[in-house]
Amino acid sequence: MYYEIEIILIFVLGLIVGSFSNVCIYRIPRNESIIYPASHCPKCLSKIKPVDNIPLLSFILLRGRCRNCKTKISIQYPMVELLCGLIYLIIYLIFGLSVQTLVYIILSSALIIIAFIDLNEQIVPDVISLPGIVIGFILSFFVSYISFINSALGVVVGGGIILIIGLGGSVIFKKEAMGGGDVKLAAMIGAFLGWRYIIISLFLGFLFGALAGIFLIMAKIKKREDVIPFGPFIVLGSFITLLWGEQIISWYIGF
Ligand SMILES: [Zn+2]
Repeated sequence: MYYEIEIILIFVLGLIVGSFSNVCIYRIPRNESIIYPASHCPKCLSKIKPVDNIPLLSFILLRGRCRNCKTKISIQYPMVELLCGLIYLIIYLIFGLSVQTLVYIILSSALIIIAFIDLNEQIVPDVISLPGIVIGFILSFFVSYISFINSALGVVVGGGIILIIGLGGSVIFKKEAMGGGDVKLAAMIGAFLGWRYIIISLFLGFLFGALAGIFLIMAKIKKREDVIPFGPFIVLGSFITLLWGEQIISWYIGF
């Protein structure tokens, strides 16, 4: 049974972590500290008061503008907060109050930060993916739902698939199709989810990436030669897999 109070608390926790994730998304690619200084408006540099820093609510109350200089605040801020709150909630509803839920919400937060940094800056930050590989592997010794062998295989299979496709792509298309950042990202997800799940995650990632690419080119938003970051699609694929991987596997076996 789920208790209403737990549902509310886990959602609010997601919103708060989402708010902190926004700081990471903005500062990590700029090599700034994520602790200090306190949040400020990027335009007028005025400090954001705690009352204006409430996830979701402040954005609505301020109508998406800085209280001081009225500069528009990016819609990305409330989006990241809401996304984080929702993913925490769904993970809790599926896995209950468990170690697996705790590990998965940590992984999800890291993946959301990586996805938005990749969307904004076209880089997958090593400062998250490299420690992520190590943390995912170490955790596999202490949890019951994934063995350390499966975790190690996940690193090799995840990183290996992207590496091979990346090398193949650069030979065929004579340009870098996938960067080293994507290799480390896939290895990190593999460390947390194991070899089966990383294969499903990457398959879904390629599928979504291809569909999005076709749509963006047909809608003339992007040109064929434009680079579309692949990280967000790997992250989307891995979210679906970590939530519904078992259903996908049993559907595929029955098929
Ligand atoms: Zn301002």
